[in-house]
Amino acid sequence: MRALRLPNWKSEPEIVEVDQPEPGPGEVVIKVGGAGACHSDLHLMDEFEAGAVPWNPPFTLGHENAGWVHALGAGVTGLEIGQPVAVYGPWGCGICARCRVGADNYCENPAGAPVPGGGGGLGLDGGMADYLLVPAARHVVPLPDGLDPAAAAPLTDAGLTPYHAVRRSWPKLAPENTAVVIGVGGLGHVGVQILKATTAARVIAVDTREEALKLAEECGADLTVRSGEGAADEIRGATGGRGADVVLDFVGADPTLKLGAAVVRTVGDLTVVGLGGGTLPVSFFAVPYEASIQTTYWGSRPELGEVLELGARGLVRPKITTFGLDQAMDAYRRMRDGTLEGRAVIVP
Ligand code: NAD
Ligand code: ZN
Ligand code: ZN
Repeated sequence: MRALRLPNWKSEPEIVEVDQPEPGPGEVVIKVGGAGACHSDLHLMDEFEAGAVPWNPPFTLGHENAGWVHALGAGVTGLEIGQPVAVYGPWGCGICARCRVGADNYCENPAGAPVPGGGGGLGLDGGMADYLLVPAARHVVPLPDGLDPAAAAPLTDAGLTPYHAVRRSWPKLAPENTAVVIGVGGLGHVGVQILKATTAARVIAVDTREEALKLAEECGADLTVRSGEGAADEIRGATGGRGADVVLDFVGADPTLKLGAAVVRTVGDLTVVGLGGGTLPVSFFAVPYEASIQTTYWGSRPELGEVLELGARGLVRPKITTFGLDQAMDAYRRMRDGTLEGRAVIVP
């Protein structure tokens, strides 16, 4: 079968012929119906080096996957061949306290996980291939009616990651409150939809690109602001000077962290999701009183069920452009150039 593999750090992925995977005991092979292209893949190709994460290439890219059950390993019950499914992406040990509540994303027993802190497409072979080997049936989540695999794939990361970040801040997203979304790309545009679908807070979206701000409007943003000089004043002005109750930074670079700290309200949340490599000085007078600052990584398996439900009911619909496996590198080039709208999904 064909697979888009990252051969080394700082290298261009290539399409190669590899053996089709066979499921061992407890494992499931999925026929891939969609594999989303995430900006994290660009960080893997362009920036990461040995030691940055506890695993190394080569592996097949694609950590945002959905498809159809193709083959079941010994002992796997409850799934049927041909059934449409999403794949929960972070693959933990399954035994530790975090994994027991479905939060494999925060597995505390990396030695017991198939690969520490990763999964398919992040250290192990992912879904940018005809077939994907999933090492435990618990990661395979049946799709609710109304969702096909290509539409469901981005929900497993571009949906699940902002959903987790929004959900943990729900108590601060009352109707009088404001959320700011910085970076309206793959994750951010779904983040705007999730805020609108699950809260009554006002949503302000920020990006450097005009097309991204247009997409934010289509997704329901109440106000759009061009990133850069003047953005903080505009947001402060739009919130009666108080600032935003929740800021979600889907970029994570120096200027966006600075903007987030400048607009977050007292007792607000500043949540950093983007891996932009920026830093934010935190000291007594540098951020508002009781502002909480956190990073989040992906989301939990129960939250994936909730995101798929939002997708199936049409409340959250990622804007996708599909590409064949042979065109996958075009998708990444467009992501790099900023000419991609929403999410690219590779359909092998
Ligand atoms: P993307 O390329 O689709 O979108 C990024 C968006 O940010 C683009 O619209 C771009 O125009 C905008 N942007 C860039 N610089 C900006 C600035 N200075 N101000 C405002 N907007 C700016 O990327 P994506 O796939 O949505 O991923 C976003 C980030 O989130 C990446 O760093 C990715 O690695 C990270 N990520 C984190 C997690 C996690 O679990 N924490 C999960 C998935 C992705
Ligand atoms: Zn990702
Ligand atoms: Zn674990």
